[in-house]
Amino acid sequence: MITRSVAIGCAAVATVSAAGILNYAVRGRSAQIFGPSVYRGCSSRRSIALTFDDGPSPKSFELIEYLARWNIRATFFQCGINILRHPPIARQIHEAGHEIGNHTYSHLLLRPKLGYKPRINSRRTVARQFSLAQEIIEREVGVTPRLLRAPYGMRWFGMRDVQRELGLLGVMWTVIGHDWEWPARPIADLVLKKASPGGIICLHDGRDIQPNPDVSEMLKAMKVIVPALVDQGYSFETVSELLRP
Ligand SMILES: [Zn+2]
Repeated sequence: MITRSVAIGCAAVATVSAAGILNYAVRGRSAQIFGPSVYRGCSSRRSIALTFDDGPSPKSFELIEYLARWNIRATFFQCGINILRHPPIARQIHEAGHEIGNHTYSHLLLRPKLGYKPRINSRRTVARQFSLAQEIIEREVGVTPRLLRAPYGMRWFGMRDVQRELGLLGVMWTVIGHDWEWPARPIADLVLKKASPGGIICLHDGRDIQPNPDVSEMLKAMKVIVPALVDQGYSFETVSELLRP
């Protein structure tokens, strides 16, 4: 009886621990288990990187016009499907001097949803998501990305191999603005509270693969975030620039 309860207890502990490790591997911002990844850049200068996911969308124009007024270059993690919808917008973002990163073809949740019968994405599916997006960016935008961001920040099996094959470094963030669910003021408050030298800020100029998403709260928040960071003495760099010592 005693032996059994001990055995059950150990098994439970082992299960919790394995789940914890997997959760960290998938979501932990410093995790490298599924592939090389960074979540912040060099902190020796007062610089910060703005990143925008899920674009391009029709509203991306308004964003890059605003960034141009401040002479800011940012990093855009784009989805293949959205680029195919708006190739001129994707090109214009690149031509304005911003960095383009890979955010998969269709914004697939790489890790299966918990609580459902697991629909495990194969390594081949994961690789296809990044390689298709890479091909589309190269063909439609004319640049070869060196950075990727996993949809929802969730990494999965197969990423390490495709990262090696395509020469892609994973990028997480130091602060994510919840701009898909919050109004402008709390978005700006959170970003400004968490801003630090070498920080990587994650916002969205699209919404997964929706054709015409509402990103107006992000745009309003930007008009608070940028002047405040400039007042605090920050310069803005692309993620690749921010990673240089
Ligand atoms: Zn995304």
